[in-house]
Amino acid sequence: MNDCVFCQIAAGKLPSQKVYEDEDVLAFYDVRPVAPVHVLVVPRVHRSSILEATPEELGRLFDRARQLARGLDQGRGFRLVVNTGDNGGQTVPHLHVHVLAGRAMTWPPG
Ligand code: AMP
Ligand code: ZN
Repeated sequence: MNDCVFCQIAAGKLPSQKVYEDEDVLAFYDVRPVAPVHVLVVPRVHRSSILEATPEELGRLFDRARQLARGLDQGRGFRLVVNTGDNGGQTVPHLHVHVLAGRAMTWPPG
């Protein structure tokens, strides 16, 4: 997936503000943050959406996302978001978990 922006970030071909990386996942700051803390957690392997990932991949991704969120939320809570498809508001077709923290979130989302 040469033209996938998150694959390029994972391969080090595009810059990002990394906050975490291991063999399975990469986490970096969103370029258009919607909360004081807005980090994206992505699998290194290309999966176009949550529908394409295996249960094991999702387990690792969400485990890392919750660990990162716990370290970033100052004990005040956070929101994990996975937008999927057009109606879900997905704009980058590489699976990613948004970690949002640092302010009170409203419900329902817009
Ligand atoms: P989504 O709308 O759920 O697909 O979220 C995609 C997110 O990726 C958006 O919040 C964008 O601001 C963010 N984004 C797009 N390109 C980059 C990039 N090169 N580095 C960091 N974040 C990005
Ligand atoms: Zn990709």
